[in-house]
Formats: sequence, C-alpha cells, structure tokens
Amino acid sequence: KFNKDFGQHILKNPGVADAIVQKADLKPTDVVLEVGPGTGNLTVKILEKCRKVIAVELDPRMAAEITKRVQGTPLQKKLEVILGDVIKMELPPFDVLISNTPYQISSPLIFKILALPNPPRTSVLMFQREFAMRLTAHPGDALFSRLSVNAQFWARCTHIMKVGRHNFRPPPQVESSVVRIEPKLGKDRPNVSWQEFDGLLRICFGRKNRTFRASWSTKEVMSMIEKNYRIYCAMNNIPVEEGLVEGAEDADDLDDMAVDNDIAGTTAGNDDDEWGGIMEVDDGDDDTPEFFKEQKTTLPYKTPSRRKKTKLGEIIREKVRKVLEDDTELADQRASKCDENDFLRLLFAFNSEGIHFA
Ligand code: SAM
Repeated sequence: KFNKDFGQHILKNPGVADAIVQKADLKPTDVVLEVGPGTGNLTVKILEKCRKVIAVELDPRMAAEITKRVQGTPLQKKLEVILGDVIKMELPPFDVLISNTPYQISSPLIFKILALPNPPRTSVLMFQREFAMRLTAHPGDALFSRLSVNAQFWARCTHIMKVGRHNFRPPPQVESSVVRIEPKLGKDRPNVSWQEFDGLLRICFGRKNRTFRASWSTKEVMSMIEKNYRIYCAMNNIPVEEGLVEGAEDADDLDDMAVDNDIAGTTAGNDDDEWGGIMEVDDGDDDTPEFFKEQKTTLPYKTPSRRKKTKLGEIIREKVRKVLEDDTELADQRASKCDENDFLRLLFAFNSEGIHFA
C-alpha cells in the first residue's frame, strides 16, 4: 500500500507525533507548512494548534486520504492541500515547517528552506539518524561535513529526540531523529552570499582531511578559480595578463607534487559525495538542489599533453598562496577541523583578492 519511492513511512506512535507538535511551539496565529502529510497522523494534531496548515503532498492517493480525513470536521477549513513536489514549487509564506521528511529530499529541503528570503521561525523535522547527526556535527566529529557547516551557518540546529524504526509503518531500515532548525533571522542572518559560501565549502570539503594547501592546488580547483577570475575581471574592467611564462617547467609536475606531499589526502573518493548523508536506498542520485549544481568543483578539465605555465595561472597561484599562507595562515589546516569563522576568514580573504565562487 505504501510507496517506497516516495519515502512513505507512516508515523504510528501518537506520542511521537504529540512531541513533534509540542517542540514546534506553535501559536494560534501560525501558518504551518507540512511536507508530506501522508495519511495525516501529524496533520490533525498540527491543525488543532494553529491557524492554518498548508500540506504539500507528492502522492495523489495520500493527498486524497488527508483531504477525506478532515472532511466534515471543524478542521477542514483550516487545511489547504497542495499536490506537488515541495522541492520544485514556489512556496507560499508560512511561519513554521513540520515534516516527517521523506528521506530522499532531506538535503534539498534544508537548503530550500534556509535559502528562502523569509525563512520560517522554526522547523521541526524527522530525518534518518545519520543525516540528523551530520546536521548537528561539530568540527572534529566524524560526521562533520559541508552540510554541517552550511546548516549551522544559517540556523541553530538542535537534536531533539531519537525515534526508533518501529514507530513507523512500514519500519525503515535505519533509526530516525527529530531535529529543530531555527534560521538566524534579522540582524543575526549572515550578510554573505549563499552561493559564495557554499562554493568555497565545496572546495574545502572536496577532501575534508586534506590540507587546504593541497585542496586548493589541484588542477580542477585552479581551472575553476581561473574561469571565475576571468569573469570577475571582465565585469570590473581589469585587464588580464595573457600568455605563457617564458622557459617555465611543466605546471602539471607542480600540481602533482603538492598533492603527493599531503599524506592525509590519500583517501579515495570525494568526501563531498557523502553530503546527502546515508540514504536507505542508495540509487546513486545526486540530491544536490538544481541551483547548486553549477557549483560542482569537479569541472571537466582537459589536460593538454604538455601544459605550460600561463601568466594568469601564476598570478592566481600566487593569490591562493597569499590567502592561505599569509592572510589567513590556514594552509596547514583541514576542513574537518575548521569552524565557521575559519571558513568566513577564507571567503573574505579570497574575495578581497578578486577570487569568487559563484
Ligand atoms: N506525515 C506522514 C506521517 O508522519 O505519518 C507521512 C510521512 S512519510 C515519511 C513522507 C510523505 O512525504 C509521504 O506521504 C510521501 O508521499 C510524501 N513525499 C515524498 N516526496 C515528496 C515531495 N518531494 N514533496 C512532497 N511530499 C513528498
């Protein structure tokens, strides 16, 4: 009866549903967005505590079920059901978000909410346990990742309670946790571009245990910075030094040396792949929201047979060296151990050299 592709695991323990609604601290005037109402076990409890619930549901059968459930009751006029994919639609204004989140959309949903110009006052969300741990991880924790830094940069993220898998029907393969996410609002909201901050984090966490000196010297990163720097120069009427450095050795040898010297950077695979957290079904899909996709640091890079040092390449190499070694002194640090102030210092130092990530 339940569709696994839609992440349908119905919350059957009313005590857990009560606790979620209570943790949302609803006011009678609140408009609540509920993502994935399913059969409505949470929805009816939310409806009793607020002015209105907007329930977004992808599965037409479920949308019909919740609509029927409130029909003819006093709750009916407070419920608006929208059929569709919450990630793809433009959201109406709301005060609070509540969801027993379908696991496939965990990270795109977080990003969508935090990137809203007027984010909700609070969100109470059920996630798979490991994803919840990622959201709330600190520097040095095994699960500390790009997701941790991004989420905690824009919001206060608190682990509220553990929920065992047998509280759901059918039970998922892994345990769950409820997390509260309170976006930083007003003067507390960082005055930084989303795309810039995330673009920098993508590079830093490409291999989170590699030193920044190594992460920032790969061919892919250099070529992306060069591309962005050209755009920046074009937009600011700054002439770009073209041409090759006379009599220079092959630049590829230098890249390879920088990476080989980094003993901790030897793990295979890109740490960034872990970013969506463990998923019950690993279908290989990248769950990064569309608007972040262009930011991939693994841009296709065509290696010419003998790449010579270009003048622009050397200028950028020196800028990166200056930022890491002199301005921030973070060259020997690794993303896995850095806090948001370190990342912010890096961002500002790169920006003041004209190096941008969006
Ligand atoms: N809220 C119910 C409960 O707690 O019992 C159901 C939760 S179930 C884990 C997730 C629900 O989200 C399902 O009803 C599923 O159809 C719906 N869903 C899945 N993907 C969605 C999407 N992209 N947008 C909106 N709803 C979605």
